[in-house]
Amino acid sequence: MTHSSESAALKRRASVPVRIGPTTVGGAVPIVVQSMTNTDTADVAGTAKQVAELARAGSELVRITVNTPEAAAAVPRIRERLDMMGVAAPLIGDFHYNGHQLLEREPACAEALAKYRINPGNVGFGKKKDTQFAAIVETALRYDKPVRIGANWGSLDQSMVAALMDENHTRAEPWDAARVGREALIRSALDSAARAEELGLPRARIVLSCKVSGVQELIAVYRDLAARCDYALHLGLTEAGMGSKGIVASSAALAVLLQEGIGDTIRISLTPEPGESRTREVIVAQELLQTMGLRAFTPLVTACPGCGRTTSTLFQELAKTVQDHVRAKMPEWRLKYDGVENLTLAVMGCVVNGPGESKHADIGISLPGTGEAPAAPVFIDGQKAMTLRGDNIAHEFVGIVEDYVARRYAARASA
Ligand code: SF4
Repeated sequence: MTHSSESAALKRRASVPVRIGPTTVGGAVPIVVQSMTNTDTADVAGTAKQVAELARAGSELVRITVNTPEAAAAVPRIRERLDMMGVAAPLIGDFHYNGHQLLEREPACAEALAKYRINPGNVGFGKKKDTQFAAIVETALRYDKPVRIGANWGSLDQSMVAALMDENHTRAEPWDAARVGREALIRSALDSAARAEELGLPRARIVLSCKVSGVQELIAVYRDLAARCDYALHLGLTEAGMGSKGIVASSAALAVLLQEGIGDTIRISLTPEPGESRTREVIVAQELLQTMGLRAFTPLVTACPGCGRTTSTLFQELAKTVQDHVRAKMPEWRLKYDGVENLTLAVMGCVVNGPGESKHADIGISLPGTGEAPAAPVFIDGQKAMTLRGDNIAHEFVGIVEDYVARRYAARASA
């Protein structure tokens, strides 16, 4: 079976690439995964630890809240600590209301951040809006930083909404309220981007986003936004929610847009379950891109859902053991073995689809269903290679995967 990290690459919408520290977003580069911390940024150790966790899970950009003077003062110390830990992921500062002041008063924060994210709906109000927006753009120019102009449904620029409502009344066929709202969101982002360009910020330093929390709304907004500009786009369903609801809603919305070539960087905004690791949002983003054939990050295990033909939980446990093992080994494998992220694995529950699916994977195992002989044939590169028996199948199978990776990908790296 052949694989390629971009094997199913779709025709991406043309966008202007933006450098964010060592990472590029937009243009022809693969779609970038990003995430956001939920620690108090003023807590240097806690924030650095979570950024490191997110980065090690595969987040290529990490956003942190910068909401107070203490948080702004902490940013350069967080950057320093990350550098000492060997974590290079660029930090993005998330500013609302007082970004102009914080960036002005903490030059080291302005310097340490790789990008500023501002929301045109709350960068300032009334007469102050333009000057505060300009102050942030001028800081970006001074420190040579890109800016994401991120409009959000929950904090729409109300003056823009009012203006569009008035405009709508003059239409022969007025739009419905949802369309006016979408237009307000898009115009808020586009007008702010145009203003930033007027102030001297090049297009190659601007990323746009227009986030909403409804799946159909998000698709409609981004289709329209993508058709109206060539700025790099950050994609995400805001306030997606918790657990499977958040994952399904984000995947449904983003998959449609990604399939249409829209989106240069993504975030899955999951609400963690109590005690759940923040890294879940990174793993879901990677899995979305990987299952769509847009990028490859980590070998994924194909597993059958199980049914009445196997009452044993062995295949579920084995599928989990293998997936966890592979994920844990990836930081090391990625450095040693070229292309290992394209490895495919299958763990199947019985003879019905087990051998067939296992043969399609690089390595597959077909466990015995109820009433079948207690033997688990292993298939490597489509051929039956051996049969495992007894209580040690999980350990032996993981060993086979390790051997295969060392053999196949080491050879490739040295080729
Ligand atoms: S492979 Fe076997 S156990 Fe798994 S779902 Fe299919 S029939 Fe059921």
